[in-house]
Amino acid sequence: MAGVLIFSENQGLALELLTAANSLNSTAVSACVINNDEQAQALASAGVKVYIVKNNDLVMADVGAIAGAVKQVADKVGADTVLLASNRRGKELAGRLAQAMNAGCLTDVTALSIEGDKILCQRNALGGATVATQHIDADKKVIAIRPRTFESAASAGAGSVEEAAVEVKKAGVAVLEFKSRAGDTVDIEAAEVLVAVGQGLNSQDDLPAVEELAKKLGGEVACSKPVATDKKWLSEERIIGLSGKKCKPQLAVLLGISGQVQFTVGIRDAKTIVAVNSDENASINQMADYIITADLHDVVAEMNKKLG
Ligand SMILES: Cc1cc2nc3c(=O)[nH]c(=O)nc-3n(C[C@H](O)[C@H](O)[C@H](O)COP(=O)(O)OP(=O)(O)OC[C@H]3O[C@@H](n4cnc5c(N)ncnc54)[C@H](O)[C@@H]3O)c2cc1C
Repeated sequence: MAGVLIFSENQGLALELLTAANSLNSTAVSACVINNDEQAQALASAGVKVYIVKNNDLVMADVGAIAGAVKQVADKVGADTVLLASNRRGKELAGRLAQAMNAGCLTDVTALSIEGDKILCQRNALGGATVATQHIDADKKVIAIRPRTFESAASAGAGSVEEAAVEVKKAGVAVLEFKSRAGDTVDIEAAEVLVAVGQGLNSQDDLPAVEELAKKLGGEVACSKPVATDKKWLSEERIIGLSGKKCKPQLAVLLGISGQVQFTVGIRDAKTIVAVNSDENASINQMADYIITADLHDVVAEMNKKLG
């Protein structure tokens, strides 16, 4: 395999991509960084050769221009494979970069492995009911990997930072103002512990006890889709699943959730799953490490009492 180049505007995700790139048996892994000295240093400390583009005409919001810059760096370092983060911006960039590089493209990749000269990519398919293993036949490849698929690369030293000149047209997009997102700013994808509620919860008045439990466990409250979209008891930021967030907590306590595939696809990578459901045949039990067949309200009250 020729070179592998990684790029994400997010430092944490770039460090995850470095771990992914290092798993591909390529001898030539390098990183592209745009207008971010701190990220360049962090990646260099993790042992990779960093090419930093410093150009005030490049703004992250102008994804087309960013794609042009990353392509030029990929050409410069002879990379035939570019790894991106499969977050919102990364997915848009993936399509534009693949077009610019004349490359094949896969997004939302959840695992990578090598078979001969192929990079095998796993992705959810059929609405999350199954996992498909796919590879790109084209010589050039753009692969966007879901956040938290890989651990962050640890400090390894011996990296370096070199400036890379690229030609960019004046940005077609001007950023006039940054505003913090209004409403619920919870990041359930980053939480180590999630206490998720489903339609088994009797009423919105029962939420404080669930919030208390989440707090005692050092986690966040999440929910199934109908709890947010139909009942409007919690914000849509807290939905787990196909149309919500894909989470990978250490512990997931699932309260009154039946376990339909559109939900489970968002939580199946949790390390430990505790399912609380009054129905002993609930599908969620099939993926649980611990099953509690009981009324969730009793279980939440008992756990809150025990945790003090
Ligand atoms: C295109 C599409 C996308 C979708 N995306 C998502 C998504 O991203 N996320 C998502 O969650 N859903 C999604 N859905 C909806 C999904 O199919 C299910 O309808 C939803 O997940 C069900 O939510 P639930 O488990 O909370 O409710 P239910 O299926 O109604 O289950 C409630 C559960 O609570 C149990 N229960 C009832 N009372 C109690 C009690 N007192 N104590 C303990 N247990 C109790 C019941 O036994 C039952 O198992 C999507 C659907 C479609 C078609």
